[in-house]
Amino acid sequence: MSAPSIIVIVEAEASTRATLCGILKYAGYRVIGLKKGADALKTILRSPFDAVITDIKLPDVGGIEILELAKEINPDAAVIIMTDCASVETAVDAVNQGAYAYFVKPVNPDEMKTAIVNALKQQRLSLENKRLVESLQRSNRLLFEANEELKKANGLKSEFMAAMSHELRTPLNVIIGFSQLMLDGVPREINEEQRQCLKDILSSGEHLLHLVNDVLDLSKIESGKMELKLRNTDLTDVIESLRRTMMPMLAQRQQSFDVKLGKRLPLVHVDEARVRQVLLNLLSNASKFTPDRGKLEVRAVREGDWCQVSVIDNGIGIEKVDQERIFEAFDRVDNPVTREAGGTGLGLTIAKQIIEMHGGRIWVENEYGKGSKFTFTLPLAPTVSHAQGEERVGSK
Ligand code: ADP
Repeated sequence: MSAPSIIVIVEAEASTRATLCGILKYAGYRVIGLKKGADALKTILRSPFDAVITDIKLPDVGGIEILELAKEINPDAAVIIMTDCASVETAVDAVNQGAYAYFVKPVNPDEMKTAIVNALKQQRLSLENKRLVESLQRSNRLLFEANEELKKANGLKSEFMAAMSHELRTPLNVIIGFSQLMLDGVPREINEEQRQCLKDILSSGEHLLHLVNDVLDLSKIESGKMELKLRNTDLTDVIESLRRTMMPMLAQRQQSFDVKLGKRLPLVHVDEARVRQVLLNLLSNASKFTPDRGKLEVRAVREGDWCQVSVIDNGIGIEKVDQERIFEAFDRVDNPVTREAGGTGLGLTIAKQIIEMHGGRIWVENEYGKGSKFTFTLPLAPTVSHAQGEERVGSK
């Protein structure tokens, strides 16, 4: 149980003082009854108190002086002024200076008790509020400091990853280059067993290089070091060149590749190499996660000030629960097809960052088991006219 609140009562008139002291003591408070203003000043200077009830006109010291000192020592203290009719104006001034209330004499003791109960309740609430605000400010400060530390650590991590990836690329390119050369019969012909070993070295090297390149890209993005070289770009050319690049892979799997473009598709204002990277990732995924003889399709249409590009397949699709998390770094859906397909789990994370750096967005819609549709938006070139085209269909 908390200690009882301490109330100082300053009243020259003995019977009023005794009544107030009695009723408040009975209500459970610790009461100090004083006759003189000077004693009141000494008491509030020396000992703790929660509330003061004082006559405004004491024979020696004014009630206002007691109010001022009480508020100076304990700004949260409740001070109640008692006055006669002649001094009501001064009592109103006292309230304006911070007194909780004033009572015109003769004071009704029950009303005074209610006022004290309310004043102390309000005081407790305001103290509690103050404590909460202070603790919130402290937590905020700690959170801010922890956040700054995290940012610093994250920056260091990105720098370290960028440096590491850069250093790993050189020896990896040597491994890849020499295994390629030896597979081509340089410096001399090799037997079948050696060919198989070299093929394994080459594919592992390429896989590792892919991972290192992805990590390098991601750390560049995270540390704000990836810069976009924005130019007005014709997406039709980008998609056509990607189709040529993908053709051997698609032919091997007997997968079709349709392209549906809005007629007179407007130019987009993008970093062509980065958009190519995004499309290549989406198309490789579409092929990877679609069975042999499946269908791939790229669509691009103008939507207001944006060009909306979709990569569609009729492969395994992605369950609803996995659709958000596949954009997180290293997140892959765990199923036999994805395990078999291999990959880094970074492609979509990088794609999302690149698209968002262009101001666009990327999302996936699909029906599990029926295929996936990845769509992203790119900003149109500033000079684009507002003509809207029909659909042009190309297929291979
Ligand atoms: P990776 O393909 O290297 O694993 P990504 O970030 O490109 O990494 O893709 C993350 C995961 O999203 C994949 O492992 C796969 O589970 C899922 N995914 C991406 N594209 C498709 C798709 N077209 N169809 C089905 N699942 C897909």
